[in-house]
Amino acid sequence: MSTPLAQLALKPRFSTLNERFWDITLPTPMPAPHVVALNHSLAEQLGIHFAQDEQLADYLIGNQLPQGSTPPFYPIASVYSGHQFGVNVPQLGDGRALLIAEFSDPAGQHWEMQLKGAGPTPYSRRGDGRAVLRSTIREYLASEALHHLGIPSNRALAIAGSPQKVWRETPETAAVLTRLAPTFVRFGHFEYFFYQGEPERIKELADWVIAHHYPDCASAENPYLAMLDAVIARTAKLIAHWQAVGFCHGVMNTDNMSILGLTIDYGPYGFLDGFDAAHICNHSDDSGRYAYNQQPQIGLWNLHCLAQALLPLVDKDELLAALAQYQSLFEAAFSELLHAKLGFTEWLEDDWTLVTDLFELMQATHTDWTIFWRTLSHWTVTQNSAALRDLFLARDDFDHWLARYSQRLDDGIDAAARSAAMLAANPKYILRNYLAEIAIAQAQEGDFSEIERLQRCLMRPFDEQPEFEHYAALPPDWANGIEVSCSS
Ligand code: AMP
Ligand code: MG
Repeated sequence: MSTPLAQLALKPRFSTLNERFWDITLPTPMPAPHVVALNHSLAEQLGIHFAQDEQLADYLIGNQLPQGSTPPFYPIASVYSGHQFGVNVPQLGDGRALLIAEFSDPAGQHWEMQLKGAGPTPYSRRGDGRAVLRSTIREYLASEALHHLGIPSNRALAIAGSPQKVWRETPETAAVLTRLAPTFVRFGHFEYFFYQGEPERIKELADWVIAHHYPDCASAENPYLAMLDAVIARTAKLIAHWQAVGFCHGVMNTDNMSILGLTIDYGPYGFLDGFDAAHICNHSDDSGRYAYNQQPQIGLWNLHCLAQALLPLVDKDELLAALAQYQSLFEAAFSELLHAKLGFTEWLEDDWTLVTDLFELMQATHTDWTIFWRTLSHWTVTQNSAALRDLFLARDDFDHWLARYSQRLDDGIDAAARSAAMLAANPKYILRNYLAEIAIAQAQEGDFSEIERLQRCLMRPFDEQPEFEHYAALPPDWANGIEVSCSS
């Protein structure tokens, strides 16, 4: 049994928090809405069905709200703050996202549903409260791509568009993304009340997060410390996943850090094409603060901000001791992912040398990250090194590395079984920037079919899909010229 979007049974949770946390804010209507993308497989999981009538677009753009999505619980914009590029900004908040519904899916999972781009809120500052079609498609595709790669992420249910113009560098068309997460609470929600000097609100929020999202922490000696430990562990694991798949978030400000360790707020993200440890995906990130190889330590920096906000609840030395666990948690998670990528069954101390030597070779040639791992996964069976060594310029050096790797593999494991395991750890299909650009260009001309095709492919990133072979190819020359920035 599925429920139309308009008739979801709402279960207020976030909006039961003190009214200091939020403001009732209605969406601002937009003319002539139309459906751009519908995620049918997610809808099925959520027990939602899309009524295929004209009104669907009105719901997805915010012109209509689900039954019961009314004051005093909905729709709401929440307040948070955060460190943007290392600088504390006293107030940010949902400047263009509205929480319009909370409900449980048939499996009992609770979800917050937001419309992003539905109009200005008390937290819009100088922004217009809108999102453009371009950035909405990028967020929709990436949320789902990461989820299907096995990386924690918010989900994306739908996109609706409107002919209404939104001004960025040039006039663009407006769109609204429907996105979901068990909660969208960020580190920045805690930071806001820390800098406002409202410890009772920090406690209220922490109690709420523990009750609904970290119930195991409730019985700990200090539940707040236990919650921080859990957030540290999830964040370390999340970033290890990003590093392993070559994902760069681009704007790891503390307001974009989920308290659940989810990837959220997709903006100028990028997947590595050719390997470059210092790759900066966000064109607005002049100093490379959020470069690929900075992500792990920025994760820790951000966790320090969260820990600071918990000072009213946890002793400082205990907070510092918890943070000191991060590095080893990250390394453990990353080495586990690397050993799966390499086809090892266990991690030996010497493996770090093998890995760093490989990264050096890849760096020198900017070897394509995804194609390398996929080709290596096949090599373990074929032993045909031609396709692999062609990915490097210093072929003799690579031959030498491959000989060492081959020796390391001499552990009696069946080659076919190893290769199958590696193929399940090394995706064939990732959302390269240029693929999203093609879908965006076509959508801007009114053809939304490429979004659907690309999404269908990215739902099975580890499977061979002959009909989508072209999505796995090296990027074309023009891909190098793509610039993505914070403009969205
Ligand atoms: P972001 O860089 O997307 O994480 O956004 C940082 C802050 O700016 C958040 O508080 C957003 O809600 C807000 N923001 C971003 N774009 C807009 C916009 N077009 N209108 C209003 N607020 C925005
Ligand atoms: Mg954000």
